[in-house]
Amino acid sequence: MPIRSEVSWVGLIGLFLSSRLLAQSPATDAIDFDSLRQEAAVRLSEYLRINTSNPPGNELASARWLKEVLAREGVEGQILDTTELGPGRANFYARLKGSGKGKAIALVHHMDVVPADPKFWKEDPFGGAVKDGAVWGRGALDMKGQGIIQLMAFIALKRAGVPLTRDVVLIANADEEATSLGAQVFIQRHRDLIRDVGFLLTESDQTRVEQGKVRWFGIDVGEKRSYWQRLTVRGVGSHGSQPTPYNPVPRLARIIARIAAWETPLHLTPAVERYFKAQAQERTGRARIWLADPAAALRTREGRAWLLSEPERNALLRNTISPTVLVGSDKINSIPSQPQSISTSVCFRTRIPRRSGRSCYGSSPTPVPDSPSSRVACRPSIARRSTPKWCGRSSERLVACCRALPSRRRSIPAAPIDRTMRTRASPATAWRRIWSTMPNRTESITG
Ligand SMILES: [Zn+2]
Repeated sequence: MPIRSEVSWVGLIGLFLSSRLLAQSPATDAIDFDSLRQEAAVRLSEYLRINTSNPPGNELASARWLKEVLAREGVEGQILDTTELGPGRANFYARLKGSGKGKAIALVHHMDVVPADPKFWKEDPFGGAVKDGAVWGRGALDMKGQGIIQLMAFIALKRAGVPLTRDVVLIANADEEATSLGAQVFIQRHRDLIRDVGFLLTESDQTRVEQGKVRWFGIDVGEKRSYWQRLTVRGVGSHGSQPTPYNPVPRLARIIARIAAWETPLHLTPAVERYFKAQAQERTGRARIWLADPAAALRTREGRAWLLSEPERNALLRNTISPTVLVGSDKINSIPSQPQSISTSVCFRTRIPRRSGRSCYGSSPTPVPDSPSSRVACRPSIARRSTPKWCGRSSERLVACCRALPSRRRSIPAAPIDRTMRTRASPATAWRRIWSTMPNRTESITG
C-alpha cells in the first residue's frame, strides 16, 4: 500500500470522527491507528491476490472475501446481482447502522482491475507482495487500495462502537473498468438500499506525499470525460504481392500521424487555474512563478513549454486525443478490402464554471473537428460511438469539513486541503448519472 493511501484512510476515519458527521464520544479515541495501518497492508495484500482482471472480472471471489472479512467483525454483508452480472460476477453491500439523524454516507469502490502482463512487472501483479514499504499488485492504486481504505474505516468504526449519527454504507461494484454494469445494475435493482444515502464517496484524485510528508489532500471538483470515436478507412483488397494505391493501411497510418501531431487549442479554466495556483505553494523558483500565474506563463515560450511538459498538466489544459487500437489485415499476405479501423480515444476537457455549484454541471466542450483527416485523399468516416459528456462536482462541503480536521485529530497530518482535477472519468460518473434519476437524492460527492 503506498504511503499516500495509508494517509488517506486515516483521513477518511478522521472525516467520520468529525463532529459534523458523528456524535462526539470517547469511543472515537479507542481506535488504534498503528495497528489498523498494519492490518490494512495485510488486507490489501489478500485483496490483490484475488485476480479480478476485467475481462472477465471474477468479482464474485472478491465479494466473497469481503463478506468473510466483515463476518469476522460481526457485520453481515450481502453478495448481490450474481444472476444479472453473469457467471463469476457480483456486487457487494454492507451497512453500519447509525441513529438516522443524518442522511447515510456511502463508501463505494470497484472490485475489478485492468489486466496486467506479469512480463512487465517487477513483482507478480497478483502476488500481493509486501516489499520496500509498499504492497505490490494490480489494483493497489486503482482501486483496491482505496477499497481497503474504506473497508478499514468501516471496520474501525464498528470495532470502536462509535455512535454514528448516520448510517455508513459500504458498496463494492463489478465491471467499472468496462461498462460500469455493476453500478448500473446495483442502482436499478437496489434503490431501497441506497434510498437514504445523502453522500457518496468513491474513486478520487490524489493525496500528494513527498519524502514521507503529506503535501496536500486532494478533493476532486471536476473531471474530464471520454469521447470514443472509431475511424474507418475503406480500400480495395488484393494480394500483398501486388501493391496498389488503394491499400487502406498506409492511408490509415498517415491519418493517425496527422491526428497525433495535431496540437489542440489550450484553455485555462478557472478550476484548473485554482488547482495550479495551489500547487505553486509547494514549489520554488520559476516553477512556483509559472504555477502561481499559469495564464501569464502560457503567454511565454518557456512557461508554456514547462506547463505542457508534464502529461497531467497538459491534459488539464486541452482536449487530448489518444489513438489506441489499430486493426489492419487479418492475413499477412493480403491487402484488406473490408473497412479497417482504429479506435481513437478523444478526451474532452471538462469546463468548470467560475462559481462552485451544488450538482453535476458543465459547459460544452470545445468541439473537435469531425474529421481532422479530411484533407487526406481517402476521406475516412468517423462514427461516433458515444455522446461526449462532462461533469463538475460539488465538493465544497467536503472541503470545508476536511479543512476542519487536522487541528482536531493528531492522527491526521497537517496539510492543505486542495481542490483537484482529474484527467479521466471516475466511477462517480456512472453513479451520478443513474443516481440523478432517483427521487429524494441530495448530493453526490467524491473525494
Ligand atoms: Zn478505478
